[in-house]
Amino acid sequence: MELACLDLEGVLIPEIWIAFAEKTGIEELKATTRDIPDYDVLMRQRLAILQQHKLGLPEIQAVVATLSPLPGAPEFVDWLRERFQVVILSDTFYEFAQPLMRQLGFPTLLCHKLEVSATGEIVDYRIRQADPKRCSIQAFHSLKYRCIAAGDSYNDTNMLAEAEAGILFNAPANVIAEFPQFPAVTGYEALKQEFLKASVRDLTL
Ligand SMILES: [Mg+2]
Repeated sequence: MELACLDLEGVLIPEIWIAFAEKTGIEELKATTRDIPDYDVLMRQRLAILQQHKLGLPEIQAVVATLSPLPGAPEFVDWLRERFQVVILSDTFYEFAQPLMRQLGFPTLLCHKLEVSATGEIVDYRIRQADPKRCSIQAFHSLKYRCIAAGDSYNDTNMLAEAEAGILFNAPANVIAEFPQFPAVTGYEALKQEFLKASVRDLTL
């Protein structure tokens, strides 16, 4: 059996931190793994900015509640689930993603957890494991699954490299240029074609 492993933000849903930055007008919160490849550095920066502005989980969840999946994403996930077992491998947090998962039909989501105080302040975050996307693919391999992975950013490239096939989806030019070994496509129709190409089974649209 083959697994389809998808990144979440930038692939199926908008970037949560960018949406929150736009809503609050805090420019520094617009940085993502596209800009700062070291996730720990990025998260420490985000938590410091939140603290400085006295913003916590309730404020972020209020913004997430207004978001929808990217246009065509629910239909793409439905298409994929008819042909693969679908797992979302994300560097987001369960506390952020949950409202949007409903709109995607609750696919399996492996991500991280926040540590939140009684007053809603985000005091820390718990990364599920180091190098989680690569380790997830390795774990699926130990279960004898073949993996086809798609993502849009730096934090996906270990996952793309570890999988039998890795696909860059709607990736920025700098990531595409740095990782020419991965096919890079734009739009869900092209992504479907890449999944069909990468499969060892005789699948059709
Ligand atoms: Mg992403």
